[in-house]
Amino acid sequence: MDHLKLPVNPQLCQQVRFDERDGQIWLDEQRVLLMQLIALAEFRKEQIETLGLERAKGFFMRLGYSIGKKDAQLALRLSQSKEPLDLIRTGFSLHSLKGFVRVDEQQLEVDQANGHFYAEYIMHDSYEAEMFCTELGQLEEPVCWSLIGQASAFTSALLGREILFKEITCRGCGDNTCLLVGKPAEEWDDVATYRKYFSRSPIIEELYELQSQISVLRHKVDKKSTLGNFRGQSPGFQHVCKLANRAADANVTVLLLGETGVGKELVARAIHDASNRENKKFVAVNCAAIPPDLIESELFGVEKGAFTGASNSREGKFERAHQGTIFLDEVIELSPRAQAALLRVLQEGELERVGDSQTRKVDVRVVAATNESLEEAVKTGRFRADLYYRLNVYPIHIPPLRERSEDLILLIEHFLEKYHAYYSKRTAGLSGLAMQAMMNYDWPGNVRELENLIERALILTDSGEEISATALFPTLSFKASQTLSEDGHLIDSSENDAKQHSTLWIQEALNDCGSLEDIEQKFLDYALDNAQGNVSEAARILGISRPTLAYRMKKMEEKGRKRIRT
Ligand SMILES: [Zn+2]
Repeated sequence: MDHLKLPVNPQLCQQVRFDERDGQIWLDEQRVLLMQLIALAEFRKEQIETLGLERAKGFFMRLGYSIGKKDAQLALRLSQSKEPLDLIRTGFSLHSLKGFVRVDEQQLEVDQANGHFYAEYIMHDSYEAEMFCTELGQLEEPVCWSLIGQASAFTSALLGREILFKEITCRGCGDNTCLLVGKPAEEWDDVATYRKYFSRSPIIEELYELQSQISVLRHKVDKKSTLGNFRGQSPGFQHVCKLANRAADANVTVLLLGETGVGKELVARAIHDASNRENKKFVAVNCAAIPPDLIESELFGVEKGAFTGASNSREGKFERAHQGTIFLDEVIELSPRAQAALLRVLQEGELERVGDSQTRKVDVRVVAATNESLEEAVKTGRFRADLYYRLNVYPIHIPPLRERSEDLILLIEHFLEKYHAYYSKRTAGLSGLAMQAMMNYDWPGNVRELENLIERALILTDSGEEISATALFPTLSFKASQTLSEDGHLIDSSENDAKQHSTLWIQEALNDCGSLEDIEQKFLDYALDNAQGNVSEAARILGISRPTLAYRMKKMEEKGRKRIRT
């Protein structure tokens, strides 16, 4: 191994010109600067403090990289020969000339024909290491960021291929010497990390990205805190809490009854969270959302080849919920075969996948729910009597919102809080009339309707303004037949008000949009905008499954429809 000191070559020194008259300094044909190292150290310190170590590192690596590219041009002009070895050594001499570092070559192997490159350089008195030793304090990792950028850039430019130099030891992190090793980029395992440092990443895009992540997280965090928490203080609500908490301890199968939108899934999740299964999975299934011929395989799994399209074996929701809880909403929609299979799980704790003869054991707590009468369904033969009795051992009736008027204000405050955070705005709350209208409404869609209403009203209301009654109940402005009385009651002034109420907005939508297709497009756009382009979230808003939404979007696209932003 030959050690070769690369001092500043006198010929290179002659290329530095001080132009006193114009106050400029030139290195060959490139204008350069003389500036105090301490100033650069302070600049670096500020960057680390304001942007963090990783970003500061990227800045200086890229600074070195652009210096290195210029050095390659100088080397090509100033080197004695065009031999790769000479060119590269000239490049390192330029390092020294500019006062960055003094270089000892430990090893330099260049074989262009075979694509071989290997280099080791000891860097003495690196200006970067010095900054960290004297001004910035030692780091845990090498600090000669601009030097590796510089070396990587000019060797890559001179050899016409991507060479990456890394600093193996560094005085800036307490080693004795700064040692640089260079190899073709693809020979380093972590080349991707370095490429990232060398590529510019505008911080503003990252900020926007973070901003949108925060708002989604706020939403999620909040969602989580409400899922596990019952909200309310009415006697009806507290009764539900008491029953749910007892059920949680007992591992019993629970049947949740109540109108649509009363929060059955919240209660199911609360039971799960309060049980000793809380660290295992909670799997929620809406049986009405799955086609009847697929429900059995969805719930209980399927073996490869069981039917056309079953190209792989996969586990069903029950296996996935093993040791946890499964929530079967709209359980009344189960096909007869699925009902039989569910009964077996409840009685024996075992199941067979569709098309399989192997029996599998599962340990799953079942919470079922329905808003129709299972008793009626048993009478008409739609639901198995034995399954009904099995499910009905521990029924919990969740009262509709109109029977829990004590909870209304609490819920309104909760949802306002939630959507203020989500939409990053703060309204002045409900106007007096709006509050009265809420109190007098009978909430057929229950808590879910309340939440939707508040979210929509908040979109319509500017920060600092009160939420008006018409923002909450926009249909009020549609027609003269229904108005708000002075004490906040919805009153109808026409005979066939109910029918008109339900059809007027349809007329309005058709007038505005023209066709059903246009209306559908508007709905999709509305949901996608509200979900910030997140398809799953948009599907949730529309109350349809993600595949259904994806299919509809595709259909719209095929028709050449562009999203109309509203
Ligand atoms: Zn170093």
